[in-house]
Amino acid sequence: MTTLINNIQLEPKDYRSGIEPTWCPGCGDFSVLNSLTQTMSAQHIDPFKSVVVSGIGCSSRTPLWMKNYGFHSVHGRALPVATGIALANPDMPITVTIGDGDCFSIGGGHVPHAARRNFNMRLFVMDNQAFSLTKNQASPTSREGLKTSTTPYGNIDAPMNVIELLLSYGATFVAQTFAGNPKHMTEIMNKAMAHKGFAFVNILSPCPTFNKVDTFVYYRTRVQDINETHTDLSNKAKAFELAATVNDHSKDENAKVPIGVFYQVQKETYGEKLKALKARIGAKDTRDMNEIFNQYRP
Ligand code: SF4
Repeated sequence: MTTLINNIQLEPKDYRSGIEPTWCPGCGDFSVLNSLTQTMSAQHIDPFKSVVVSGIGCSSRTPLWMKNYGFHSVHGRALPVATGIALANPDMPITVTIGDGDCFSIGGGHVPHAARRNFNMRLFVMDNQAFSLTKNQASPTSREGLKTSTTPYGNIDAPMNVIELLLSYGATFVAQTFAGNPKHMTEIMNKAMAHKGFAFVNILSPCPTFNKVDTFVYYRTRVQDINETHTDLSNKAKAFELAATVNDHSKDENAKVPIGVFYQVQKETYGEKLKALKARIGAKDTRDMNEIFNQYRP
């Protein structure tokens, strides 16, 4: 490992903890982990001044395989933990790795607030359209008709459109990629990591153990890079138009699955707003804890 003092230049392998992932052979999450370490290396992220936060699920084991500071939190609560870290360390690179069920079901109430506040963090959802750690229950992104242990006769719920949601919530970077296209995924992760503000990436990451429909082969023949023609990334109306098509493939076998950056704008982050507020009211950055406790002592 080279020096970590000023100019960080580490190899992707230097971001690995040395603990081998216990994911099933062929899981899409291996590819996500590889792209993540390549991105950290390319973006010169200091593992000792950055953090990876997760919830619960197969994908949420990611912090264990990484050398960065890590917080493997509880189900649905990765974003509140990441929010606390962002408040205490507004300049720290924060990456949240999380599954679709954890993020949009149990933790669904936290997503709009993290997005609308424009915290400087990355939300990487490893979307396998199922709760896999708990042995295959339907998740909010499961397609209609999918047979799982909770939907043995086929899912009757429509899948969430998570791209539309994040656009509505005010995320300043919204993208989708596919774990079966590592080059595209790494490019998108690099863009998300370089973005100042809240960056959301939905990563289609197949679960070969339980989901026999949304497979690598299935997506490989259907994904289409929207950025070949969609280049005005600040055009929100166009982003919504493209986002409206993300689940069409589950009803129309000829429909494409759009991947790429739907939307990106630069706005003041929560950390910057907080700094400005503190400067305006003359607030101290730190307070003597005794001063606080004394207010409550009899
Ligand atoms: Fe990956 Fe599915 Fe195995 Fe979980 S159950 S590790 S998502 S292949």
